[in-house]
Amino acid sequence: MTSPAEPANLMESLVSLAKRRGLIYASSEIYGGLNGFFDYGPLGVELKRNIRDCWWRDMVQRRDDVVGIETSIIMHPKVWEASGHVAGFSDPLVDCKVSKQRYRADQLFWAPVIVDGENDPSIQEALVAKGRVTTGVRERYLHLRRDRSVSTGDHSPGEIAAWLTNRTVLYGFVSVLESERTQADLQEQAEFFKKKWGIKGQLRVVEHRDFTEAKEDEIPLIPSPATGEPGSLTAPRAFNMMFQTNVGAMSDASSVAYLRPETAQGMFVDFKNVVDTTRVKLPFGIAQIGKSFRNEITPRNFIFRSREFEQMEMEYFIHEDADWAKVHEEWIVWCENWLKSIGLPESHLSRYTHPKEKLAFYSRGTVDIMFKYPFGVQELWGIAARGSYDLTQHANASGKPQELFDEASKKKFVPHVIEPAVGVDRIFLAVLAAGYAEEDVTDEKGNVEKRTVLRLSPRIAPVKVAILPLLKNKEQLTNRARALYTKLRRNYAVQYDDGGAIGKRYRRQDEAGTPWCVTIDFDTIEKPGDTFTLRERDSMKQTRVTEADLVALLAENVY
Ligand code: ATP
Repeated sequence: MTSPAEPANLMESLVSLAKRRGLIYASSEIYGGLNGFFDYGPLGVELKRNIRDCWWRDMVQRRDDVVGIETSIIMHPKVWEASGHVAGFSDPLVDCKVSKQRYRADQLFWAPVIVDGENDPSIQEALVAKGRVTTGVRERYLHLRRDRSVSTGDHSPGEIAAWLTNRTVLYGFVSVLESERTQADLQEQAEFFKKKWGIKGQLRVVEHRDFTEAKEDEIPLIPSPATGEPGSLTAPRAFNMMFQTNVGAMSDASSVAYLRPETAQGMFVDFKNVVDTTRVKLPFGIAQIGKSFRNEITPRNFIFRSREFEQMEMEYFIHEDADWAKVHEEWIVWCENWLKSIGLPESHLSRYTHPKEKLAFYSRGTVDIMFKYPFGVQELWGIAARGSYDLTQHANASGKPQELFDEASKKKFVPHVIEPAVGVDRIFLAVLAAGYAEEDVTDEKGNVEKRTVLRLSPRIAPVKVAILPLLKNKEQLTNRARALYTKLRRNYAVQYDDGGAIGKRYRRQDEAGTPWCVTIDFDTIEKPGDTFTLRERDSMKQTRVTEADLVALLAENVY
């Protein structure tokens, strides 16, 4: 019997499991770690490799229309000029001059504290003196509210009358860093602000905005999340996220090169090579898996946003006249189905369509597949329709045409592209978050104990089966177990474990996400049929199976 439960702080539990079981360590941990960099331990590296291998098999080997490549991490610096990364691959950055903290402006949220009711001028004056608000900004807010309420008519005459008699007042601003509780945190901060300054009346529901939307005269009034005081935040400025290095012995401007911030450019730059050396015909894709590097301002949420990470990207080239929207939708569905095939529950997946006005000028549409992480719903996989932008840019910058010949119209054209781009580490975190559970388990004797279980799909589980001889010192049992182990490990990642009580060994495998345990017991060696106890991780059900049953089970589920 089990009672499944998600722990109160799932993220903490995941980080602790990751460390305890050798999934993920902080990079250079003995030196205090390096923010935004991680190491994958013995169990983690298997899981990560399985995620990659599943993707590669499904995306490249099991399709007739996609080929793979592997391009270098450091490419000609002109690649990044042509792609727009040198000029534009930047995040808006805000510094706190007092705490020396750096924030991404689009992750720093703020809200005005607006109160309806008795208005005590002395409090207002004190707040102006403390630099929390200026009379100019206060007036502007009041006018905005008046104008908006009068013009839209969405406020009662009483409310409008109150504002007109100057009973609605802006007292200052509050700020928080983005989380799944952004709105609630800001509301709490505003309540606290009101209490602290002894403001009477009714606090309005705060309207939050990110720091890129702050006006010049509002910036000095918004408190730094580090200090809680206004006046120390700088205006947002562009910060290029590419890591720079130098190639060769000279470190001058002519030797500057970059660690790639995405793998995609490799596919564009090698487009002609692939066309000329293989038999691909439109529509076709070029896929790659590899490391990418971004000097993220605020790496956070464990491996979700790191500075060195791994991407799996595919560029699907289509005719310029093809129905791009249809192909785009087909790839979104493909990606969703693939995520489900490696065990992510549909309930955690959703779509976000980027609004037209926020798209790059060349982009026709971008849809992100979102995942419900413990810290909120966030982008997992972006599927972008990029038109012919990238190939055209490289054709112009290199002087080498990137065209194909259309037999039907006898004309040359530049293909368009649909790009599904996903991060391996983000998938890794998603499968951990979705699969982790702590359960109370009651055994046959009525004893209740806790078990931690990772419900990983057999496709990606680091160990597929654990082979457990019931006793360590009974040769007949261990011989049979060893024989089975040796046979299965030719094709599958299996583990042999003879240490400790059988229940303990099951728990160990549960925590590592092993879908099945096979126990070689006295029935195996004493009764006819050569059967073993097969114990299933999620249900903990035990059945008797033969070796042939086990091989069939693996063949069916590990693909
Ligand atoms: P975000 O908005 O979260 O920074 P993005 O839109 O810049 O992501 P893309 O450039 O579209 O991301 O990259 C494609 C994929 O690469 C993302 O969907 C994500 O899975 C992964 N990815 C991007 N940046 C990081 C990072 N810093 N750490 C881990 N994975 C990342």
